Amino acid sequence: MTYSTFTGWIEPPTDLRPPLDGDTACEVAVIGGGVGGMATALRLADRGIDVILLEAEFCGYGASSRNAGQLTGAPAGDPQILSPLYPRRFPKVVRFAEDAVDFVEKDLLQRFDIACDYEQTGNVGAAFSKGQLRKARRIAKILTKAGAHAKFGDNVELGLPDTFYGGVLEPVGGQLNPGKFCLGLRKAVIESGARVYERTPLQSMDNNGSGAVISTPSGRVRAKNVVVATNAYTNELGIAPKRTETPIWVSMVETAPIDPARITATGWTSRSGIVTEHNLLTSYRITPRNSIAFGVRQLRMGRGSLPARTSDPAVVADLIDGFRAVFPSLQDVPIERTWGGWIAMTPSWLPVAGQTKQENVYYSIACNGHGLAQAPYLGTLIADLIAGNEFHDNLDAVWSERRWFGPGLFKEPLLRATWAADRLADRVTRPNH
Ligand SMILES: Cc1cc2nc3c(=O)[nH]c(=O)nc-3n(C[C@H](O)[C@H](O)[C@H](O)COP(=O)(O)OP(=O)(O)OC[C@H]3O[C@@H](n4cnc5c(N)ncnc54)[C@H](O)[C@@H]3O)c2cc1C
Repeated sequence: MTYSTFTGWIEPPTDLRPPLDGDTACEVAVIGGGVGGMATALRLADRGIDVILLEAEFCGYGASSRNAGQLTGAPAGDPQILSPLYPRRFPKVVRFAEDAVDFVEKDLLQRFDIACDYEQTGNVGAAFSKGQLRKARRIAKILTKAGAHAKFGDNVELGLPDTFYGGVLEPVGGQLNPGKFCLGLRKAVIESGARVYERTPLQSMDNNGSGAVISTPSGRVRAKNVVVATNAYTNELGIAPKRTETPIWVSMVETAPIDPARITATGWTSRSGIVTEHNLLTSYRITPRNSIAFGVRQLRMGRGSLPARTSDPAVVADLIDGFRAVFPSLQDVPIERTWGGWIAMTPSWLPVAGQTKQENVYYSIACNGHGLAQAPYLGTLIADLIAGNEFHDNLDAVWSERRWFGPGLFKEPLLRATWAADRLADRVTRPNH
């Protein structure tokens, strides 16, 4: 099995944009070239704004090209907790999440003709035990009440592998190759007129409120406004409010290609993306080359400056155990590779955007493991705010006036205890596995 420090979906681009060389100026500087930062810069350029995008490595280097590729219309986090915790906000967050998918489908994939193997299969929160089935039924009710297009069904109705009991289908969205999505977005932003500098990390920023000077290893950028779209790397920059996010390492594993008839024989006829209803979910999806990619199940926290790293072998072994339990008829399928990436978890478990005390600096964190659609959508809403002073209703759903955040819930012992509780529940409720 190959342990990769990048992603299993694509090779890194070979036509990197040159790093910044010397001093320059612009109206808006966007920091971070994930799908969030690229979509922000693209919209700003589209609206005639002089914009610079600074990316530490290359556009798509971060979580954006490493994820499971499930373009999901559901909010991150458990709706059973989020709905009572944020009773007024939750329906708005649900709309934000579904609109984000619509935005990616129409305004990015179709408009820029991005070929990324997108399949509109929807995604299912799938139950691996009867307890999880009850949870899925409750979640379907909560989501429907909040205005989502959610549908509860058994495994046959939803075309799920027959080791699942059923689940909640979120029909909005589907699955794509996130690496190809990033390459397509990267091409669009480069062609948009935005000035893109790769291998150009922000090292520090001086800001007097009416203009900022960003220092990089090989030059400086003077910008009237700045958008920080660095996701899990946000804390280490010290620009956004303190503790806006907790960086968490998430691992992915991929099998060798499988005869499609064998996949269908498991009961997985819908090809929908799957996330289990465990407390720490596992995601499963069929790729265009008919392998199965799966991930999460265990999480590892990051601190300080986030390193490039590979998956932890113990986590990979545990993910493979989970795969074998869900697909007993595919025991012989070889595992080909593993990779992972840093995601940002916010204390509220909701996407967060806002301005720092000096109001010319905006930040946007839409991850919580669900940012593939939400990060580019949120970036675009921020671009509209900067370019036209347009404060969209969906921006209101995630906007924060806070200047600091309390410590998040994510702590290593809690993450390990949650994993142990999930495995214990599996053993009690599925003794044959
Ligand atoms: C394994 C995995 C599976 C996932 N699965 C899914 C999924 O199926 N569906 C879903 O919706 N979401 C999923 N996610 C989450 C999703 O990938 C993210 O929410 C989304 O990509 C966030 O995009 P972003 O642009 O905010 O961040 P990123 O893609 O992380 O981009 C941040 C960028 O900032 C750059 N940067 C950092 N520091 C600096 C600096 N000092 N100067 C300049 N640039 C800097 C980085 O190099 C990076 O390119 C998953 C994530 C992972 C890791």
